[in-house]
Amino acid sequence: MKNNPFLDAIEQLEKASKILQIDREELEILETPKKEIHVQIPLKTDDGKLKILKGYRIQHNDSRGPFKGGIRFHPRVDLDEVKALSFWMSIKTAVLNLPYGGSKGGIAVNPKELSANEIEKISRAYVRSVFKDIGPDVDIPAPDVYTNPQIMAWMADEYSVVAGKHVPAAFTGKPVEVGGSKGRDTATAQGGIYVLMEAIKKFKFKKPISVAIQGFGNAGANATEILHFDYENFKIVAVSDSRGAVYNEKGIDVPFLLSHKKETGAVTDFKDAKNLKPEELLELDVNILIPAAMEGAITLENAKKIKAKVILELANGPITKEAEDILLRKDILIIPDVLANAGGVTVSYFEWTQNKSGFYLDEEEIQKMLSKKMQEAYKDVLDLADVYKVDLRTAAYILAISRIIDAQKLKG
Ligand code: GLU
Repeated sequence: MKNNPFLDAIEQLEKASKILQIDREELEILETPKKEIHVQIPLKTDDGKLKILKGYRIQHNDSRGPFKGGIRFHPRVDLDEVKALSFWMSIKTAVLNLPYGGSKGGIAVNPKELSANEIEKISRAYVRSVFKDIGPDVDIPAPDVYTNPQIMAWMADEYSVVAGKHVPAAFTGKPVEVGGSKGRDTATAQGGIYVLMEAIKKFKFKKPISVAIQGFGNAGANATEILHFDYENFKIVAVSDSRGAVYNEKGIDVPFLLSHKKETGAVTDFKDAKNLKPEELLELDVNILIPAAMEGAITLENAKKIKAKVILELANGPITKEAEDILLRKDILIIPDVLANAGGVTVSYFEWTQNKSGFYLDEEEIQKMLSKKMQEAYKDVLDLADVYKVDLRTAAYILAISRIIDAQKLKG
């Protein structure tokens, strides 16, 4: 049975709320999204057929600023998933202290089965359908699973056409040529790695530190590259994509892996590395495990077999609630998604301020600001984990919920 990520999200919320002794009414505001938008996306395919796709935009909370969150194109998209993802965005923007709330959107479709022309059509149709509910001071979408800067360029263009003026700040994650920010493409992975470097200081890992990475999209592929090229003392022993996994105990030849993926579209079947079943990657004896694919990767079934000492959640919601209880009992350090992958929305924030001011920053300035933001958030979370003697996720929720409720109270 598919795990319901929204119910997991509510359980996480309740755990933190009990510690904070939050009133029932205040909790209810966070348990239900402020607005749920369901849309129909008609697609005339290249061969002339008509397909009707389901689209969503869920606006969870905007007490601290405009709604903010990505749009995913994926066959698994449904209401509960988008609701959970919108809730996690409210928590994430509050943990990072960005002046935003949280939202998320999606279309239930497999873009790998569509042509570029068809993807452009559904991107533009989506914007027309939700036009009245989004905007630079209302709700600002961005990329997520299987959406990318090109899609943001089409969406921002469609928004500007309908609005009759340039509105680059209506979307983030755009290509730099059309108002995107330097560093946004690598920000999710890079932000997570800034936090990881702080978090592993207390572990006395033997060098090189071994890492397994599940998922080879924007987050997973960039994490592989950054750890390999920009840091010393790490070896990537396993990676996977939607088709399979590969493993080499001594460390994968990353430059070769990157060109192999480019050529064949897959990470599997190459010299010096053996193919693994995707679930085996999660159970490898490694120092660090980075789930960077979808929700619900680590479940009640495989949690017992996890051997990593540190898990960096670059995906949203990769560990189910039941699995998390097991991992915490095993004393595994989980760096939670709402902190670990918040680098993406943080540089989205820098992009938005650059669009609003018309003044653009260079890569070095962005990296300095991102690193500072991630380290501050990590410290805030760590301090609360110490005070309340709780795990990092619960501490991050405590931090976020108090910030959201304080804003809510001040507004009355
Ligand atoms: N989709 C990304 C996330 O889950 C980025 C959101 C954004 O930049 O607004 O955090």
